[in-house]
Amino acid sequence: MKRLIVIWCCCLSLTTTAQQLPVLCYHNITTAGQHKNDLLHIDRDQFDRQLKTLSDSGYHTILPDEMVALMAQHKPFPPRACIITFDDSHDVHYSVAAPLLQHYHFKGVFFVMTVTLNKPHYLSVANVKALSDEGHVVASHTWDHPFPAGYKDWNKELVTPRQQLEKITGRPVWYFAYPFGAYNDSIIMHVKQAGYKAAFQLNRLPVAGKELYTLRRLMVDGRWSGAQLLHEMALYGTQ
Ligand SMILES: [Zn+2]
Repeated sequence: MKRLIVIWCCCLSLTTTAQQLPVLCYHNITTAGQHKNDLLHIDRDQFDRQLKTLSDSGYHTILPDEMVALMAQHKPFPPRACIITFDDSHDVHYSVAAPLLQHYHFKGVFFVMTVTLNKPHYLSVANVKALSDEGHVVASHTWDHPFPAGYKDWNKELVTPRQQLEKITGRPVWYFAYPFGAYNDSIIMHVKQAGYKAAFQLNRLPVAGKELYTLRRLMVDGRWSGAQLLHEMALYGTQ
C-alpha cells in the first residue's frame, strides 16, 4: 500500500509540473445571431453556457498578479483556477461579458487598444473605468494593433497606452497582450522597457527563459460547447 501511495504521489507531482494555468482568450461577443460562432465570435448565450460549465465544474478565476506571483515563487497554481481574457476593446465586453462574469462571480482581464476608445462599437473611457472599478483588470493591447513589422513608434504603441489606461483607471497597468499573439525578441525587449510585468501571446507554448513575456492563452472557439471547452483546457495542460 505504501508503495502504491508513493507511485501515485510521483504521478501527481509530474502532472502538476506539466499543468499550466488555463488562460482563456475571447474576442467578439455577438447577440441575436449577428455572426456565426467561430474563433473570433461567440454568441452571448453560448458564452453564458461556457461560463456556466466552468462554474458548475468548480472553476474560479484568478488575476495576472496572482499568476505572476506564483510563477516567481515556483508555486503551483490553485486547482480549478483559470484566467479569462478579452481582446480588442469591443463595447460588448462591458455591456454583455461583464454582467455574465459578475453572475458567475468571475473576474476578467480586458486588453484594450487605445486608438478605439470612445469609437462606435468599442469600449468608451467610462466603460474602461467601470470595468476597473468592478474589480476586473484593464491591460494594454497597444495603440492601434500593429503587426510585428508595424511598431514604428515604441512610445506610441507601448508607453503612452499604458499611461493613458493608468490615468483612466487610477490603477497601475502591468500587463500586455501582443496583437495577433505575435512577438519577437525586439518587441519583448521594448515591452519590458515600457514597464510591463508580463505579456500574453496566443496558442503557442511559452518560450523557455522568457516565460513571463510569452504567456500562453487558449483561443476559445465560439463553436465549443461547455464540455468541449473543458476538454480543450485539459489538453492545454498536457501539451
Ligand atoms: Zn487583438
